[in-house]
Amino acid sequence: MVPFKTFPFLPPSEWIKTYFKQEQFLSLIKNRPEPSSKDYRDIWDGNILQQFMVDPGDTRKPLLKCKTNLALLLYLDFFNPFQRAVYSCGALYISVLNIPKNQRFKAKWTMLTGLIPGPSEPEGHVNSYLSPIVDDLLTLYTGIQIQSCGGNVIFSRSLLLPVLADMPASRKLSQYKSHKADLPCDKCRFQAVREKGTRGASGKMSFYTNQSCPLRTDEEVRKAMDAYKKASSKASAQTISQKQGVKYSELSRLPYFDMVQNFLIDPMHNLLMGLVSDIGDVLISNNNNLMTDKERETLARRLSVLRVPYDLGRLPKTMLEKMSARGLKAQQWKNFIVTYARVCLWNIVPYQLYDIVKCLAEVIEIMLKDPITKQEVDEISTLLHKHHALYAKYFGKFEVSVNYHMALHIPEVIRNWGHPTSWWCFPYERHIGMLGEVNTSGKTVEEEIFRNFVMHHLIDTARLPSLSTISEDDIPQPLQPFTNSYHNDCKEDHNEEWAVFQRIQAERFFKGKDSFHKEKPPTDTMSEDRSLVLQMKVEREDLEGLEYWPIAMLPPRRLKQRPKIQFHGDLKSYLEDIHEESLVFVEPRIDIFARCLVNGSTFSSAYNRTDRGQTALVYCVDKLNQRDAEGEVSPYFVRIHFFFTARVHLKASNGVNEMRIHHLANVDWFHFANKDHAIDKLSGLPALKNTAYRREHIVNVRRLIRRVALLEVKKNYQLVSTFSR
Ligand SMILES: [Zn+2]
Repeated sequence: MVPFKTFPFLPPSEWIKTYFKQEQFLSLIKNRPEPSSKDYRDIWDGNILQQFMVDPGDTRKPLLKCKTNLALLLYLDFFNPFQRAVYSCGALYISVLNIPKNQRFKAKWTMLTGLIPGPSEPEGHVNSYLSPIVDDLLTLYTGIQIQSCGGNVIFSRSLLLPVLADMPASRKLSQYKSHKADLPCDKCRFQAVREKGTRGASGKMSFYTNQSCPLRTDEEVRKAMDAYKKASSKASAQTISQKQGVKYSELSRLPYFDMVQNFLIDPMHNLLMGLVSDIGDVLISNNNNLMTDKERETLARRLSVLRVPYDLGRLPKTMLEKMSARGLKAQQWKNFIVTYARVCLWNIVPYQLYDIVKCLAEVIEIMLKDPITKQEVDEISTLLHKHHALYAKYFGKFEVSVNYHMALHIPEVIRNWGHPTSWWCFPYERHIGMLGEVNTSGKTVEEEIFRNFVMHHLIDTARLPSLSTISEDDIPQPLQPFTNSYHNDCKEDHNEEWAVFQRIQAERFFKGKDSFHKEKPPTDTMSEDRSLVLQMKVEREDLEGLEYWPIAMLPPRRLKQRPKIQFHGDLKSYLEDIHEESLVFVEPRIDIFARCLVNGSTFSSAYNRTDRGQTALVYCVDKLNQRDAEGEVSPYFVRIHFFFTARVHLKASNGVNEMRIHHLANVDWFHFANKDHAIDKLSGLPALKNTAYRREHIVNVRRLIRRVALLEVKKNYQLVSTFSR
């Protein structure tokens, strides 16, 4: 007898109805991202969502073009709700892709449509749990009438397009056979090479190939699934699945759904928890004595001295002590490969291994760019092929696992689904973490977790008075835990993505490209001087759209300091240079600050002893430098001593004096180690000397673009390490 299990389930249509009751949702979907065919910023820039702008059945009818029709993403992950017991249940989430990227994955807009009950994961398929969801999705595709918050009745259609999960869960949804099968890939008809003399699932397999294989098509997969379902006997069904590598998935009942392209390959699992952790593990645990004891000591020292700001994830201390990478999380692998690996491993591991690391670091760096250009997607492909060839050569082809083959399809997935950060698993990991923290009685676990989630949602939906206007005591005791998590969700507003976006805008500004910083590039000056003119406007704090470029000086601070005569002289000549004859006088006292918030990133200085982020990348045109003679903007690196504000009095054009506050930093400029500012050949990173490059030490804080870390890898030779964000 099969034990009876309860499947807590709330159909997507019911969730969607509650969303439409909220004004905020209506305004969010009104601002649905517009697809761009130029480069990749979001999921809407990929091929597939653009295909559904009109109804595939009748191309005269708008589908996603109509902003109240929704594109949905389905996510599945299994988690353990207990700390001590072995238990696994599966969360099926649905997200609305119409919501702009920075709000899309908030808990508030994430539907928990079902919880697959434990205690163990279903072995073969999850069709029985998908079935009621697919029924509902079919209704949603036809369209439903929804009462919106304004009292209007809206007719809305929704369609499920991408499906996201790690590989084992993805195969449960898609019903492609496991990677041990003859056809291990859900994108192409690639066949792995089995080690001679081995058979079946136990033998070693190599997934290395340098050729591409015929791609699978939706039509062929649907045909195979249909045949499998209709097979007259178990044996004939098995023959079909063996030959085609697929069984039957309920998702194939969705007529518009592409059974090949719609299953995403998650770079977080595939690359960070897969390829990066493979090589990281070998290096950190020093397998096969790659490094001598002395080299290992160097590595440990470098890992511990690299100064990284506190708000960026660090590598666990135990990893350094035990030289073991066990249990590192995806975020930590991301930091490892982008920030730590190249500078810390410089010149101490065999160059073949270093090249493997370099390829992966470059792949992840491209993926964190915004936007990603089409050319850069091709570059990812080239880098991955190179990486695999190096890896197979060094470790042998039987060490090349299925992840490596799947990774080769990631460029295609980006072309289809746009920027990976607009859909990868990271935000869902947080949601899953929250489900795992719900306290349950231990008996009806899934129901309790599910009810708790729905409760949260209903409280968010109910029009509570704005929480800032009422005190904690006004909230009934049983509701208080919910209001706390409500607060937590709000905190994400100023998130990393926002800071990255702001940084890119600032870069574009300095490079003289269009950005939303309101300033119009001057037209009367020669174009090659444009960057310099814009730069001077920043130094003068003479920009119109300053509210788009938020800065704030942060404590600890020392107000009304009288600087040394020498410093005051420097400050005066800096201000004279930028204001020329309109400068009347500079106030003799300055306010000193330890930290400064520029565009969402907190920069720190040597004055702030507790923080470690004192080095920064600055964009500027340097007239002294040959390279910049054309008015091109170049990256330079500085160490920040302190931040300060200085007050100047200027003679305005109407003859009246005005006071202006300048937001400045006192810095030293690093000298480049190589001629022509060339990057270090081995690492591919900028190399600096510890000496001062220029004599001026004052720069406007708006020129600080990005925080970086420096590591001295030999005497007076430092490499610049960027951060993974
Ligand atoms: Zn393939």
